[in-house]
Amino acid sequence: MLFDRRTFAAGSAALLSGCATVGTRRDSGCTPLAPVIADQSRVIRTMAGLRPYRRSGFVVRADQLGEKRLVHNYGHGGAGITLSWGTAKLAAELGLPGHGGAVAVLGCGVVGLSTARLVQEAGFPVTIYAAALPPDTTSNIAGGQFHPFAAYHPGEVTPAFMVQFARALDYSWRRYQIMVGDDYGVRWLPTYVETDSPEAKTIATFPPINRMLTAAEHPFPWASTLRYDTMYVETGRYLRQMIRDVQIAGGKIEVRKFATPADIAALPEALVFNCTGLGSRDLFGDTDLHPARGQLAILEPQPEVQYAFTGGPGYMFPRPDGIILGGTFEVDQWDTTPDPATIARIVASHQRFFASLRCTA
Ligand SMILES: Cc1cc2nc3c(=O)[nH]c(=O)nc-3n(C[C@H](O)[C@H](O)[C@H](O)COP(=O)(O)OP(=O)(O)OC[C@H]3O[C@@H](n4cnc5c(N)ncnc54)[C@H](O)[C@@H]3O)c2cc1C
Repeated sequence: MLFDRRTFAAGSAALLSGCATVGTRRDSGCTPLAPVIADQSRVIRTMAGLRPYRRSGFVVRADQLGEKRLVHNYGHGGAGITLSWGTAKLAAELGLPGHGGAVAVLGCGVVGLSTARLVQEAGFPVTIYAAALPPDTTSNIAGGQFHPFAAYHPGEVTPAFMVQFARALDYSWRRYQIMVGDDYGVRWLPTYVETDSPEAKTIATFPPINRMLTAAEHPFPWASTLRYDTMYVETGRYLRQMIRDVQIAGGKIEVRKFATPADIAALPEALVFNCTGLGSRDLFGDTDLHPARGQLAILEPQPEVQYAFTGGPGYMFPRPDGIILGGTFEVDQWDTTPDPATIARIVASHQRFFASLRCTA
């Protein structure tokens, strides 16, 4: 299914044509928003990753595993970068009070790394155990927009979850703001959203200041546009820096795969945070957890592109390591090999879209 952010809520596989309007132009200077040169010849890599998606939302919960306290922190869907600091905070609050001694964190994606950092900041020694490390995690594949996209399915969550969700979003929002800059590869960008997209509806749950634009204020070939500012995370750089932070604070990282909870019970640490993402499906038998595959085409960087959008053909997030074009939201697809025909459709639909920008100058 193409076009994830739109079809996710609409439940349709529709691929919009790009909606060309009369009098469209893409000359330089015609609009202040530089068009992306979306062309197959500029594709520098393609990716397919599996979002750890639960319709009822992420799991942050404390359990007992024999003598150990086990705190789950997984199932972030399409919003794991966004929510990572916030759910790490919730998990730390469940696990740390009354604990003494070393702590284990299972998983070295964005959720495990944030959890490890908060545990260290509270003064505890940490070992991260993970089957795979960055750059070989789903977190590396993420587009990196700070936005709570596909974190849950509306109508299938409990009020208690929504309280956790709101707290997590708020903490993450504030935490990322103090990481803006080249060290972590986090930056603010103006973001344009087609207003009848599901993305626009989720902005109501999310803090940024947003404003409806008049037709004269934007070049996009759709009826109305919302503009807001949010942060974008260059995931490769970010995760590398997070690993450094864990190590500088004395944390250890061990490559190790756990097959059963009994393997975890044999660890020396009395407190364990489970941040294994989609791995929790097999490890803990959580059959509510499903892969939601996302495919991306990455184009050669264009430093002059300093805005992002969602709507129309999908989404475009410009990053220093490439222009991210998305995407798909394919539930229960496990194959992480990008499909060339799908990638070609993503690029072609963005090509039509950028050729149809209206002139606003
Ligand atoms: C195409 C795409 C675009 C996305 N875009 C965005 C976006 O713009 N914004 C956003 O917020 N989110 C986005 N996401 C979602 C985001 O990538 C995920 O929610 C997030 O990466 C989940 O992080 P995680 O740490 O839980 O999982 P992972 O990154 O998958 O890390 C899991 C860790 O657990 C380890 N592990 C798993 N099983 C075991 C086991 N049995 N034993 C030992 N270790 C184990 C793994 O090796 C790994 O180290 C996107 C995802 C995709 C696929």
